[in-house]
Amino acid sequence: MTISKNWREATRLVHGGSKRSAFGETSEALFLTQGYLYESAEAAEARFKGEEDGYIYSRYGNPTNRMFEERMCLLEGAEDARSTASGMAAVAAAILCQVKAGDHVLAARALFGSCRWIIEKLLQSYGVESTFVDGRDIDAWKAGIKSNTKVLFLETPTNPNLELVDIRAVADVAHNNGATLVVDNVFSTPIYQKPLQLGANIVVYSATKHIDGQGRCLGGVILGNKEWIEENLHDYFRHTGPCLSPFNAWVLLKGLETLPIRVAQQTNSAGKIAEYLSDRKEVNWVNYPGHPSHPQADLAARQMTGGSTLVAFELNRDKAGTFAFENSLNVVSISNNLGDAKSLVTHPATTTHKNLSDEDRVDLGISNGALRLSVGLEDVDDLIEDLDQAFSATNG
Ligand SMILES: *Cc1c(COP(=O)(O)O)cnc(C)c1O
Repeated sequence: MTISKNWREATRLVHGGSKRSAFGETSEALFLTQGYLYESAEAAEARFKGEEDGYIYSRYGNPTNRMFEERMCLLEGAEDARSTASGMAAVAAAILCQVKAGDHVLAARALFGSCRWIIEKLLQSYGVESTFVDGRDIDAWKAGIKSNTKVLFLETPTNPNLELVDIRAVADVAHNNGATLVVDNVFSTPIYQKPLQLGANIVVYSATKHIDGQGRCLGGVILGNKEWIEENLHDYFRHTGPCLSPFNAWVLLKGLETLPIRVAQQTNSAGKIAEYLSDRKEVNWVNYPGHPSHPQADLAARQMTGGSTLVAFELNRDKAGTFAFENSLNVVSISNNLGDAKSLVTHPATTTHKNLSDEDRVDLGISNGALRLSVGLEDVDDLIEDLDQAFSATNG
């Protein structure tokens, strides 16, 4: 099938990257194979020399994975991609493949816990310096640049409190100083924000989240231009082996087909839940990108085309009161995951962000009353009734 440049996003997400075998299957084929055969010893030699196209070994590439990568490229407007075993494999590879001892990495301080560990702990143990800034403060990014700064790293909206970082402004800081900007785009989803179009060099995803969207398998992807991938990632990826299982690539390909309708539905519900929560007397604040009350509503309008499937809010309760509220929920489940068809609530202070210092938690607004809600595909009225009964049950 040839892909028309004029196809709109939803069409690309159904057909993009598909390569049919001789059997003419409707759904994408699942190639559960480790290796590939050659017609002759000469053909094997030619393929290893790069003179002949074709697969060599599934650690390097696999047809099902390639369909997923090409569909992601079409979605993101990227030239090339590599799919990885998890989101963290994508983040680790995207950073490690381009730094060496003596380099410096500058990152926003509000990050997914494991991303922070890589930048703060792992890089430093290999002689790569790292520092953190308040991602919202562009002057802080400028001031944080050093002569050896190689990579800038951020996520936006941030985990867990959905603050925003101006991708274009940070990309300018990176490029004025010869550095690369890597954006973790999980929280916005690829539907609502296109970091490459805003000047980022590399975008990474945990495909575990909205791209699967139904809580089944882990996966990740790194996207960028061909030259960067060829020069920085290609060898690193082949020889360290963070590759995605073809089975998971197949699940994620099918996930992409329904991504726009799931994200739209979940966002619609999340917006209604944000409204509901902002009227509750038990709630100190609600942070929802896409709502005019968001402290960075202007930036949200500039760089995102939709709100969020997540809502961050703070109860005016201590840890015990907040736990009681979570424990009273019936439709919403307690989990650290997000982007699932099932609604999930997280208490970041004691789970995803428990490794931060008390000072960092205060800085990031991760109090004992703070909760993060990932809104699923249930009927929104059932979700609001569930929150309602949990408030009533615990207002004693
Ligand atoms: C989940 C997540 C990751 C890590 O992804 P895994 O697939 O769990 O390895 C990285 N960044 C963000 C923002 C995430 O939400």
